[in-house]
Amino acid sequence: MISFSLQRLSIAFLFVFVTSFALNTGATSIPKTMPVKNVIVAIAMEAEAAPFIQHLQLKLVADFFPSNTPFQAYQGPHGDCTVTVITNGKDTVHETGVDNVGTVPAALATFLALQKLPDTDILINAGTCGGFRRKGAEIGNVFVVTGVAHHDRRIPIPDYVPYGIGKLDTSRHGDFTTAEVLALELEYKLGVCTTGNSLDKTEEDDKHMLANDAAVKDMEAAAIAWSCKLFDTPFLGLKVVTDIVDGEHPTQDEFLANLLAASQSLQVALPRVLDHICHVGVVKEQAMEEL
Ligand code: SAH
Repeated sequence: MISFSLQRLSIAFLFVFVTSFALNTGATSIPKTMPVKNVIVAIAMEAEAAPFIQHLQLKLVADFFPSNTPFQAYQGPHGDCTVTVITNGKDTVHETGVDNVGTVPAALATFLALQKLPDTDILINAGTCGGFRRKGAEIGNVFVVTGVAHHDRRIPIPDYVPYGIGKLDTSRHGDFTTAEVLALELEYKLGVCTTGNSLDKTEEDDKHMLANDAAVKDMEAAAIAWSCKLFDTPFLGLKVVTDIVDGEHPTQDEFLANLLAASQSLQVALPRVLDHICHVGVVKEQAMEEL
């Protein structure tokens, strides 16, 4: 009698053990999203960043960057997230006082910010860009960046060619696919961002931008993604179109005419992206269709 009960008990234990093992290894217990708590938003120009900083009521963190750099940081909560906006500040080296646009300040500011905030879950590079009509870009469109590459780093020595182009796939980070999920959920366009240190372009640039399969063109994204790669931090590019690269108007005229409107459009897009990321987290590729 005693041996019969023991047998029943052990079968019951075995059942509980097997069931709990099955549940633990089953699809339901494997996390499909990763929570996001700390976000850095890298924005090159103050005019682009100001409406967003105001909207989130972020506060200037005076000692965030080394005192000999021109960079600025603003921080505050947004839902369950802590958001840090970094801007590249104004040029003091050449004493022009304009915004420090381009790859050098962008890579350095990003590196220093990631060094200062090692718990960063994702870095968003938000800003204006030129858009390619041949890729369906229109003024005011928001693009989520699937990849970055340079179009002005021509080094015609075989081993150096891929380094110069500096292509990085930003559509996924390991198993996580934030770019596609966001574009799908928020109805933004997807495409490659080509980066160079000029606002205008040469015919040579045209060839390389085509080869990069670019949908948008900027002066920072590839440099920022490079610094993110050094820290293995997920990079998300969010670009609003101020001018059409393959259109008929000179870039600088179109850029200046649309900068204010695009910055406002960014101010609408960024909180939407943050709400999604801070609420849903970053999503695993195989879980996308279940969202
Ligand atoms: N005269 C302008 C200069 C801005 S430089 C001013 O001070 O108001 C352009 C900035 O906008 C860069 O940060 C770049 O990333 C982005 N940008 C917008 N359109 C661009 C384009 N067609 N090509 C390259 N960068 C572009």
